[in-house]
Amino acid sequence: MGSWMHAILVVGAGFAGAVHARELAEHGWRVDVIDRRTHIAGNAYDEVDATGVRRHTYGPHLFHTSNERVMVWLRRFSAFVPYEHRVSALVLRLERCLPLPVNRTTINAVFGQSLGSADEVRAFLSRIAVSHPAPRNAGEYLESRIGRELTDLFFRPYTRKMWALDLEQMPASVVQRIPIREDDEDRYFPGDRHQCLPAGGYAELIARILDHPAIRISLGTPFEKRMSRGYAACFTSMAIDEYFDQALGPLPYRSLRFHHRTEPARYALGGTMQVNFTDASIYTRQSDWSLLPGHVVRATGCKTVTLEEPCADTDNNMERYYPVKTADGGPQALYERYRALAAGEPSLHFIGRCGTYRYLDMDQVINQSLQNVRAWLGLRDDADEQRAAS
Ligand code: UDP
Repeated sequence: MGSWMHAILVVGAGFAGAVHARELAEHGWRVDVIDRRTHIAGNAYDEVDATGVRRHTYGPHLFHTSNERVMVWLRRFSAFVPYEHRVSALVLRLERCLPLPVNRTTINAVFGQSLGSADEVRAFLSRIAVSHPAPRNAGEYLESRIGRELTDLFFRPYTRKMWALDLEQMPASVVQRIPIREDDEDRYFPGDRHQCLPAGGYAELIARILDHPAIRISLGTPFEKRMSRGYAACFTSMAIDEYFDQALGPLPYRSLRFHHRTEPARYALGGTMQVNFTDASIYTRQSDWSLLPGHVVRATGCKTVTLEEPCADTDNNMERYYPVKTADGGPQALYERYRALAAGEPSLHFIGRCGTYRYLDMDQVINQSLQNVRAWLGLRDDADEQRAAS
């Protein structure tokens, strides 16, 4: 590693690290980026496999945002193709796949109703809803919106598999990621103005973000504390508890094991790219990469379908994918104690999903990174300027 004072060390070549590196490089800094993996792009990494299909190595990454600043920034590096994500949930009891988010079609099928309008759906939902005037957790929130049967069917076993926690142990924010619809809307991210994928994949997008003469990348390079010596600052996307050798105890994360299956190219379960399994089996969902635009790179007659099996990070080689939030705030409180430790090292900055221990989407990571760099550089943030102008 170099050791010039006008250089910065960025740990992790995922979205958080790449955005930091690029912005710092464009503002005159030399940047060394290291990553312990042998590829860039972090968990957004994708690759074309033997069936000719581009698959997302660490699970589906479906870009969506209403943040114009983020979209404009990304478009500097890649074209984007429109893709509106739809999910179906396999309900074994009914032997069919139903739309998720829960919408009019879902409700009519589950309850054998023929509700014709959003008003009728609203009235029906208010009849089956359970009163929880101030929901304290994901279970109470869902029951207060869609009643017990839909909660138990679509959310209870899935959440248990995903987090190894009951809905009552989780905060509402985790399930509020998914809308509840009274109409026929079946898109997973209906509220977002931009729903699209980088035309050449995420690995190519991030390679272009990192492609700057002042950025040097070292892959297969695990972080060691001595490496940050001599740098003006270190921005790290590593897990904050890992940096401190878990001195205050481990922060919990969920991980995923991926099971790839080769299938004939013709067949598609549910007809949607993603199918969620509502039952208590070990898998949460499957992704059929061939149904994403531009993802059949070579036609081979076959395709890869990937199933996800959630597990603890401790059971998967410490691969940390999801910070765990609980209704009682335990992990969040532990994170705050780590944050206080980090405040003692002013040139060290934790970034991204694992560094800031937040369940962030890609656009939020990019936005957080842009804000963070600009604050560090002492620049006025674009978002502030937009607010001031409006
Ligand atoms: N969820 C569920 N059933 C589903 C889909 C989601 O219970 O069929 C819950 C589950 O707790 C999940 C959360 O909603 O972790 C957020 O789902 P999302 O699809 O946003 O998860 P991600 O794509 O981030 O893994």
